[in-house]
This record gives sequence, C-alpha cells and structure tokens, in this order.
Amino acid sequence: MSVNLLDFDAKGLAGFFTEIGEKPFRARQLLRWIHRCGQADFGGMSDLAKELRDKLAATAVIESPHVISDHAAADGTRKWLLSVGADNGIETVYIPEANRGTLCISSQVGCALACTFCSTGRQGFNRNLTVSEIIGQLWWANKALAGAFGGESVRDRAVTNVVMMGMGEPLANFENVVTALDLMLDDNAYGLSRRRVTVSTSGLIPAMDRLRERCPVALAVSLHAPNDALRDQLVPINKKYPIKELLAACERYLQSAPRDFVTFEYVMLDGINDSVAHARELVQLVRHTPCKFNLIPFNPFPNSGYKRSLPGAVSSFRDVLMQAGLVTTVRKTRGDDIAAACGQLAGKVHDKTRRGSRGSMEVAR
Ligand code: SAH
Ligand code: SF4
Repeated sequence: MSVNLLDFDAKGLAGFFTEIGEKPFRARQLLRWIHRCGQADFGGMSDLAKELRDKLAATAVIESPHVISDHAAADGTRKWLLSVGADNGIETVYIPEANRGTLCISSQVGCALACTFCSTGRQGFNRNLTVSEIIGQLWWANKALAGAFGGESVRDRAVTNVVMMGMGEPLANFENVVTALDLMLDDNAYGLSRRRVTVSTSGLIPAMDRLRERCPVALAVSLHAPNDALRDQLVPINKKYPIKELLAACERYLQSAPRDFVTFEYVMLDGINDSVAHARELVQLVRHTPCKFNLIPFNPFPNSGYKRSLPGAVSSFRDVLMQAGLVTTVRKTRGDDIAAACGQLAGKVHDKTRRGSRGSMEVAR
C-alpha cells in the first residue's frame, strides 16, 4: 500500500526519506511542494531529480479526503462534506471576513464526550481522524479556494486562521492533532502564527497540560455553565474534570500560550444557562482567570430538546459580563442557509457505539 505523504510533518517526512534511502534534507523541498504549492503530482515537482520523482510516485501518494459535497452560502461561507471512508463524512467550513479567512476543521468522526446540546456529540464516536485527514482539510481548502495555485505562491492563501472547532474533541485525538498543528505552524508548510491557530476543548485537563508543553497555540475552552451542577448536565466530562480544576489548567496554559487570555465559549440555551443571575455567577467564577467570552447562540438541530436564547437575553447576559470588564463577543451566525454553524456540523457518522440505536445516520439539514 502506498504511503500518504499528508500524514507526515517535517520530522516524519525526513524519516520517510531516510527509510527510502534519500537524503533527509530533500524532505524540506517536498514539504514545500505539497503544502505551500498544493502540488499532488510528483511529476510537477520540477526541482526534484527525475529518479526521485519516479521513486516517490512508485511508493507514495498525496491524498486528502475526497469531497462529497460543496455548499456556498449567500454570505460567502463554504462548507465541504468530505468522505473519510466506510460511510463516514466530516465537515470543514470556511468563513471569510474582511481581513481574514478562517477554516473550521474537524478532528474526529463523531465525538465520545456527548455534550447534550451538540449534534456531533449526539451521534456517538466512531474514530479519530488521521493526520492526512486533518491537515488534508486545510490542504484541500487552500486549493479549492484559490484554484490550483501552482508555483511558490503562499502569500495569497485564502486561509489565514484555523480553528479546531469542527466535529470532534481535538484533545482526545492528541498525537494526530499535534502533528497537524506542527504542519500548520511550519514555515515550509502553512507558516501560520500560533496566535492564528486555535484549539477548542471541552476541558480535557491532562491533554491541555500536554498541549501547553508540546505545541502551545491559542486556546478556547467550552465552559457553557457557571457552576458544576449545570455543567455536569451540559458537558458530562465536567464530572471528571470539574470547573475549579479546569480554570487552574487554563491559568497554567496561559504561562506558555501565545495569547495572554483564554477564550471561553458559552452556548446560549434558552431558559437553561442564559439568565442575568447565571451571568453574575460567571463573573465571580472567572475573576482570577484572564479571559474573553464568546457567546454562541445555540444552533438548533432536530430533536435537540433545546431552544436558542432570545436576543434580549443574549444582550443582557453580554452586558453583565462587559460591565464587569470582560471582553465579550456574540458569535455571528454564519452560513445559516447551509447549516454551517457550530454544532450543526453533523456530517455523517457510522456510530459504532450505536448510542440510542441510531446506527448510521445523517442529520437533517
Ligand atoms: N469539542 C470541542 C470543539 C468542537 S465544538 C469543544 O467542545 O470545544 C466547537 C464549539 O461549538 C464548542 O464550544 C461547542 O460547545 C459548540 N457547540 C456545539 N454544539 C453547538 C450548538 N448546537 N450550538 C452552538 N454551539 C455549539
Ligand atoms: Fe464533543 Fe465538543 Fe460536541 Fe462536546 S461540544 S460533544 S466535546 S464536539
């Protein structure tokens, strides 16, 4: 079977070159062809010797997951459903803004953490994505958005920011995610700054500590509740890693982080976690943690059992945080017409756990 070179970061590629009897430094040239130029055809890598190109063509491929569907929303948001084999699909979303283009990447097929308001969580867990399936989303998006961008052009890449906020819990697929992050940051690959790459986690504390040591990028933490009783219900992993310990882990993380604050994500659920009293409790809770808040109006999906908070509740909640000096943004709902918002990235998961006897399902959109 051929080796997929999208599975390797710089170190891995150098190791592969040694294995096939080539000089490891050649790997750098290859890395640039693959990731900076989006080249998938060894024949087009003009500065590599013909023998090396032939050898690579005989042993390796450069292959991202293939696209099942491609939707463009009226506001410019793009969503791709990518096939990851065996009846599974994952979603990748591109969100253009005036001064940046953000790609929202998936890390797992499904998710085991079962947050009650999350469509991915409702589907159960199938498997971790491989490195090529994770970085392949970025590789593919840059190609699709720019057209095939030959040569050494990197400046005009469409994707300037990456958020690991698609399907799955990135820190539950630690090694593969870190290898993909290495490539995002590598100057010979995507050259993104640590500040422009964000990992979002529901709060896997030991993995947050490992990320801090291995690859500190910007951190977003899905808080969603101001106390353990409520968070236990919404984010069940809270029973294992409760809020006080989570906040301490955030503070440790900040010692190495490229930004001097953590972003707390807070999904606004009507009548559940969105009162002014909840906002006041939250202000007290985070008073020692340098942070910003991102309020996410709940994105409904069939049979979720939740409703989106009313606009008035969102603004009153935001005002309490802002008056306490906490920088707070309300996430704009983008790509509404193509179900591209957070928590709607349902893709298609063949659920091995058969949670709720759903088996294989595609969430209606
Ligand atoms: N597993 C990671 C990252 C993926 S989810 C995490 O939980 O942080 C990205 C964000 O979308 C998280 O903050 C998550 O809680 C939020 N989210 C999930 N379902 C949602 C929904 N239906 N509406 C709004 N936000 C949702
Ligand atoms: Fe998993 Fe994140 Fe969804 Fe929770 S919110 S189930 S951690 S993807």
